[in-house]
Amino acid sequence: MKQNKVLIVYTGGTIGMVQDENGSLHPFALDRIYDAVPQLKGCSYGIDSVTLDHIIDSSNMTPSLWVDIANIIEREYDRYDGFVVLHGTDTMAYTASALSFMFKNLSKPIILTGSQLPLGMLRSDGRENIICALEIASTRLATIPEVCIFFESHLYRGNRSTKMSAENFDAFETYNYPSLAKAGIKIAFKEHLFLPMPTEPLVVRKHFDTRVAVLKLFPGIGPSVVNAVLHAPDLQGVVVETYGSGNAPTDSWFINALDDAIKRGVIVMNVTQCKAGAVKMRQYAASCDMDRIGVVGAGDITIEAAITKMMYLLGSYPNDKEHVKQRLSNSLRGEITE
Ligand code: ASP
Repeated sequence: MKQNKVLIVYTGGTIGMVQDENGSLHPFALDRIYDAVPQLKGCSYGIDSVTLDHIIDSSNMTPSLWVDIANIIEREYDRYDGFVVLHGTDTMAYTASALSFMFKNLSKPIILTGSQLPLGMLRSDGRENIICALEIASTRLATIPEVCIFFESHLYRGNRSTKMSAENFDAFETYNYPSLAKAGIKIAFKEHLFLPMPTEPLVVRKHFDTRVAVLKLFPGIGPSVVNAVLHAPDLQGVVVETYGSGNAPTDSWFINALDDAIKRGVIVMNVTQCKAGAVKMRQYAASCDMDRIGVVGAGDITIEAAITKMMYLLGSYPNDKEHVKQRLSNSLRGEITE
């Protein structure tokens, strides 16, 4: 039987970092994966790797690097059975979300992973994470047509994921969707939770409009901060991080500021600050005015998926704000429970 093949795309992150003389961690070239993880020498699948031109701490991730990653995967799509993207944990959930939107009709797994401790350290979680991610990306037991994150025994849907710990090895969680697989003695796949296999060919869209903002509410927020954000030059969309099931102050200065922005063509999206649960417009009086003026409720989407989806839709449909609004409230790649 033909051997399955996986392509590793190395972008940087703690997994490949080394310590300088002051103890700070810096990204380091990890081009010889077998030196770093010798256990892979005996694996049953083929592995190739590509490194981005500049490896980074993922705090420096940008939409143009998402396009670089997507270009590599698109170019090699037919030659490999799956893809593993080694990535820093800090913005991994954003990149996973962005890639999920870019790859429409994906029929092969793209699995992001990284680690909390560099591979060179004795107690590194990186070896386990890479080995499991590669095994899942290459497996014949299940075909996962999704962008995922593998971390500390769990395979998660990428656009549902959030980094929830800067300390623990189990650093990710999908609060509004179960994990897709659990690695124990065997890897237990929960295939009924996967996205359906597409029937149409792959489409990769690579335009992001970064003229967006996130406005996080807090008790005491005033007109100067809200207006500064809503009057940012050329603003096209804003994600308002509201309370609970999508509630916000009912003060007229606040509603009028949002109303004015919407009338100027800015798309306003309502996403909850809560980790679990969903925005339900009109459940409380505290969201009725936002619903009336045309704020878009985005259900149980994560903030990472919300902002990347807004950039993706504005970039993909630059002349059709109505279409963008309609897609924001519906699931594109399983990021919202419908
Ligand atoms: N700062 C690192 C990064 O995101 C953290 C990590 O990889 O865990 O690149």
